[in-house]
Amino acid sequence: MKGPAGWVRDEIRALAAYHVTPAAGLVKLDAMENPYRLPPTLAEELGRHLAQVAVNRYPDPEAPRLKAALREAMAIPDGLEMVLGNGSDEILQMIAVALARPGATMLALEPSFVMYRMSAVTAGMGYAGVALAEDFAIDLPATLAAIARLRPALTWIAYPNNPTGNLYTRESILAIVAASPGLVVVDEAYYAFSGGATFLDEVGRHPNLVLVRTVSKLGLAGLRLGFAVGPHEWLAEFDKVRLPYNVNSLSAAAAEFILARHEILDGQTRDIVRDRELLETGLDALAGVRRFASAANFVLVRLPDAPRVFEGLKARGILVRNFHGSHPLLANCLRLTVGTPDENARLLAALAQAIG
Ligand code: PMP
Repeated sequence: MKGPAGWVRDEIRALAAYHVTPAAGLVKLDAMENPYRLPPTLAEELGRHLAQVAVNRYPDPEAPRLKAALREAMAIPDGLEMVLGNGSDEILQMIAVALARPGATMLALEPSFVMYRMSAVTAGMGYAGVALAEDFAIDLPATLAAIARLRPALTWIAYPNNPTGNLYTRESILAIVAASPGLVVVDEAYYAFSGGATFLDEVGRHPNLVLVRTVSKLGLAGLRLGFAVGPHEWLAEFDKVRLPYNVNSLSAAAAEFILARHEILDGQTRDIVRDRELLETGLDALAGVRRFASAANFVLVRLPDAPRVFEGLKARGILVRNFHGSHPLLANCLRLTVGTPDENARLLAALAQAIG
């Protein structure tokens, strides 16, 4: 047979591709996007700026101006090296590929971002998940026991976590870093909404700690830009795995231009945090809804019958994310991305109806 069976690795054959639900015509509250577009005058200026880009040339792989703009916008110290990725998804993949020695294991806390496991599988690494506690805190004894038993090459920690929205205690993460023989990556995709909670001040103080950030949740998801910061020894290795021109010239130029005006994104982020609090108050007023604390731009809720409510919301024009069936700790859970005030009001009204 000349088809893929027998040739494509079994673990790839067994995977399901990352699923994106079509959202045409729906209020899109399923993917933690910033709901705001650029102001029209700025969008026009950006268009003129992009017209200058020499698309006949390959991008500058070092992207010094882009790195400087990221440093400035996210207060990354000059002493810390950066590697850029086509979204932080690509950073996950690069790190997994670099660490996939035969027999190597990736560890992640569960439930968390599904791409951790997928990047392990596609890179050919082993994967082990350690369950969080009922309240989504780190089960430190179980996690430390798994680290001692499996000696993971790589451990992923999302801070705040997706899809639960919570922050773990600093002490528990530092205990994992101290106990880990391999690399620990703290993924701060939702940093902007966390009230300043970050491990940036710890980077450089531990030989095995790397931090990952993205511009996606700031309002630039379409550009596909993320990065790792950490000790030179690690980043130099990841850089060898990076494809030569992984961040394209238009994305780099657009990110540079917009990040130089990052007050606009910062203002939108502040609005989203304020609106998250209003959404939380609205959710707390709904009978039958249990809301979990969030330090991100989404809120996880548990309802009597999440699959039915998910369909009820969709029938009312609202797309959220249903996690029922994905992990025992997420039974009857929906993840609601914070939208505009109008979208959040529609979500609350539709939820009240769909719960019945
Ligand atoms: N990390 C976490 C925890 C996420 O939730 C996401 C996106 N859902 C990513 C990384 C990937 O973000 P991106 O590739 O857009 O930078």
